[in-house]
Amino acid sequence: MPELPEVETTVRGLAQVLQGRRIERVEARRPDLRRALPVDLGQRLTGARVVGLRRRAKYGLIDTDRGDTLVFHLGMSGHWRIDPAEIGKHDHFLVETDDGRRLALNDARRFGSLDLVRTDELGEWPPFMALGPEPLDITAEELQHRLAGRSAAIKLLLLDQRIIAGLGNIYVCEALYRAGIHPKRAGGSVSRKRLARLVPAIHDVLAEAIAAGGSTLRDFVAPGGELGYFSKTFAVYDREGRSCACGGTVRRIVQGGRSTFYCPSCQR
Ligand code: ZN
Repeated sequence: MPELPEVETTVRGLAQVLQGRRIERVEARRPDLRRALPVDLGQRLTGARVVGLRRRAKYGLIDTDRGDTLVFHLGMSGHWRIDPAEIGKHDHFLVETDDGRRLALNDARRFGSLDLVRTDELGEWPPFMALGPEPLDITAEELQHRLAGRSAAIKLLLLDQRIIAGLGNIYVCEALYRAGIHPKRAGGSVSRKRLARLVPAIHDVLAEAIAAGGSTLRDFVAPGGELGYFSKTFAVYDREGRSCACGGTVRRIVQGGRSTFYCPSCQR
């Protein structure tokens, strides 16, 4: 499942193809993904110039000179393909640029989405309205303020998009491990000192994953033309029963219906 680093590297990879280009043609090859595609997608995008690409939480944003922003979410299985040799049945949306490049949004499970939002109204767009700050921008003071008085487990609070946006299960597990915080600890009881370790840990696990995703288009694109997917290694995530660097054993518990991996010796 694409997490924040995959979305960030996808946006950076798309920028190398789309930034400053005019969109020559778009084709929606089905009427919906998780929800209906905008009916006027073709009309509003054809002929528009791409003036910026950004990420918000796990959404990619493509701004045009017509004041529209194409917002994509990759869902469970979505990825963009660059200059695909042929178009397959899961390539649901195509974009062609004025310099002859072709992009395909491929999404076999169709949990992703595509929306067109007026750029100056993005702040009021319902999926964005309740989102907390970006994990790469949040400060320890801000996180402390957001966790104050909360008795729910820190693990669950860090997955709550209203508290911090776009931090997925893998990176919450890894950041808590690095900060030495037990995943079941009540959010409001994590000390200022430990939060001062947690916030840099969040920044670092994400920044390292983004760096692993590559810095040039050549790095971003997998052999099949897939953008943004890359292999990563983790200290605790998906390592149940294996050794921690401390010599202890990584454990798995279920919190909120999802697996948490942690080291009982390192995390208190
Ligand atoms: Zn350990």
